[in-house]
Amino acid sequence: MKLYNTLTKTIDEFKTHEEGIVKMYTCGPTVYHFAHIGNLRSYMMEDVLEKYLRFIGYDVKRTMNITDVGHLTSDADTGEDKMVKGAKREHKTVLEIAKQYTDAFFKDCDELNIRKPDTIVPATSYVGKFIKVIKTLQEKDFAYVSGGNVYFDTSKSENYGELAGLSDNKDDLKVGVRSDVEEDENKKNKNDFVLWFTKSKFEDQELKWNSPWGTGYPGWHIECSCISMANLGEYLDIHCGGVDNIFPHHTNEIAQSEAYIGHKWCTHWFHVQHLNDLSGKMSKSSGAFLTLAVLKEKGYNPLAYRFFCLQSHYRKPLTFTFDSLDNCASAYNKLYAKVSSLDTNGEVDKAKLEEFRKAFTDAMDQDLNTAQAVTVLYDVLKSEANDVTKRAAINEFDSVLSLGLKDAKPEVKKDVDEQKIMELIAERTEAKKNKDYAKADEIRNKLAEEGIILIDTPQGTTFKVQ
Ligand code: AMP
Ligand code: ZN
Repeated sequence: MKLYNTLTKTIDEFKTHEEGIVKMYTCGPTVYHFAHIGNLRSYMMEDVLEKYLRFIGYDVKRTMNITDVGHLTSDADTGEDKMVKGAKREHKTVLEIAKQYTDAFFKDCDELNIRKPDTIVPATSYVGKFIKVIKTLQEKDFAYVSGGNVYFDTSKSENYGELAGLSDNKDDLKVGVRSDVEEDENKKNKNDFVLWFTKSKFEDQELKWNSPWGTGYPGWHIECSCISMANLGEYLDIHCGGVDNIFPHHTNEIAQSEAYIGHKWCTHWFHVQHLNDLSGKMSKSSGAFLTLAVLKEKGYNPLAYRFFCLQSHYRKPLTFTFDSLDNCASAYNKLYAKVSSLDTNGEVDKAKLEEFRKAFTDAMDQDLNTAQAVTVLYDVLKSEANDVTKRAAINEFDSVLSLGLKDAKPEVKKDVDEQKIMELIAERTEAKKNKDYAKADEIRNKLAEEGIILIDTPQGTTFKVQ
């Protein structure tokens, strides 16, 4: 299989350290808010990658962290702790916020058919391990204490910045070279980063731990290195994330992991380009973002969004519009109906199935070309093969694409009493007019329980049967 590698900047043959086993690490969500549909694009493409590696015979061991401490609003060492910010916004504790949004994240994943990684580790559960690694880095002279914090010394790291293609001109890396960046006077080099904060800028930092350097809390980058090494060992085959993670997060992970183990750490780096909306990049911190819950409220099937993402290559930025989602949703419904109408009786034509399988793997082996894989799926449906052969092929593809097509059955048409629904819609509109939102929600929920989803549009409310 060939896959683009951010480290080498070429499409490489995918190889593993141990034959037949893939050690895979994914940066998990920062749980201070709902995941937006951009975040979910990254997790969906990583899910396809994991499932495809299994499809071609690898045993995949996958670990993901949950960031519940240490991630500051700047991604570097400035700004506010995102978790504290989330807790303040909702008048809750950091741990309450973490639980709430971790649960919400996995619910989204479930609805998008994203498989849960084998091992999931909240950062706050590993702080003892972080302290041990930081101590070793200090003993090896890769870390220094300054102004109360512990910093990683990037000048000691031989290939610092290789992943991000940073300039290797050492002068550029000195403190104070770029006047537009808020500088931390404690740093020896511009890219040095905090491993452990003791001198918190935040009086109200909620979670703190004792450490050899005083009471404090870990920086963001150290958590992924430690959680990965503790669960997957010293040789990692593939590390995933969105493109914004390349610098500083993954760059710093490489520096500290390799300093700690004393050899190359991870061979392959997989990064998903961003989902944008028409106004630009979708970001959690801006507060204005689309969630899966909003798509569902508007009547979209989450798998129509999965279909939307799979039809574009993971290394291309993707622009989200409701028009394009509408097109995808209607194509998805037609596809589902076609697959569900395939006959289930007869014999599988093994030679044909092998031909289909080859077309699918040819697409996926070329840098995970999911758009081409979807085309292969349509080619199968259009082909002269018998229905059971088509079904067998689509079931196989769906073990990777996870579009809910496996063993699809014709939907049982519900008898709906349209007049009754219209009456309830009118009653709900009246309730909303009177600001009786409890009643309006009650009507919406009651209908939803019967599989009737209300869709609010500027022209009024319509419904669809699920
Ligand atoms: P966060 O919860 O902010 O730590 O991000 C979770 C994951 O989503 C990370 O892998 C990010 O790189 C990725 N990500 C952030 N914004 C986007 C976006 N607009 N499109 C796709 N992935 C994103
Ligand atoms: Zn990470």
